[in-house]
Amino acid sequence: MRVLAVHADLIVFISRYWQTTCTAVRAGEEGFVIDSPIYPDELEGVSGVLEQAGFPVSGLLATHADWDHLLGRLAFPTASLGCGESTAERLAAEPGAAQRELRSFDEEQYVDDRRPLALGGIQALPVPGRLSLGSMQPERELELYPADGHTADGTAYFIPWLETLVCGDYLSPVEIPWLSPGGSLDAYEATLERLRAIIERAQTVVPGHGRPLGRDEAAKLLGEDTAYLQALRFAGADAPLPPGRQTDAQRRIHAQNVEQVNA
Ligand SMILES: [Zn+2]
Repeated sequence: MRVLAVHADLIVFISRYWQTTCTAVRAGEEGFVIDSPIYPDELEGVSGVLEQAGFPVSGLLATHADWDHLLGRLAFPTASLGCGESTAERLAAEPGAAQRELRSFDEEQYVDDRRPLALGGIQALPVPGRLSLGSMQPERELELYPADGHTADGTAYFIPWLETLVCGDYLSPVEIPWLSPGGSLDAYEATLERLRAIIERAQTVVPGHGRPLGRDEAAKLLGEDTAYLQALRFAGADAPLPPGRQTDAQRRIHAQNVEQVNA
């Protein structure tokens, strides 16, 4: 796992698996951890690093309900877990789905030292909305924006005082836009348009998979991803993949996208 201190109050962890990111934000005596890395040693690493760095963890947040973003409770078992309303609804509608997918990943990867994942007592947050951090600093508020399209749910978190956007599974330098079952092309394009305006205010963009990006790089990816989705709409399977992401693995995602658009 890579650990990047992007700012004195912002640490990004990047998992060895799928480069899944986990972002820790500090505001005085309070702090939040958004999403999670994957392997048990990485989850232990997050709690160890944050303890050493003096990052309090008042709560966990998730960008969406895909299992690979929901593992924070394995590192912080007693922490509250918050997410956008759409994600809370999806979790309630498919109870046990994340645990089943995690178990199948662990079986595939021979991971046998994982404790059970508890996803009870989830706090649904209004989106769009604000979440305030630090009782002494009422001006420090996370901004929540809808970010659906990759899946049926999704929330992007903007941290104004750190000029950082944590957007979930969009704007990835390592993964093409992915329309999962439940995802939609129209919603994905609308989310990219929404993110375009937020990126203008950001110095750093942390995608769900891959390293943090500067504003210009994020804007360039947004252009490439928009072009890919337009081509997907009009040319289907013939749509060219975005530059730099033309691997067999990405072609498999592309094939799923074509199916999802035709469904
Ligand atoms: Zn993901």
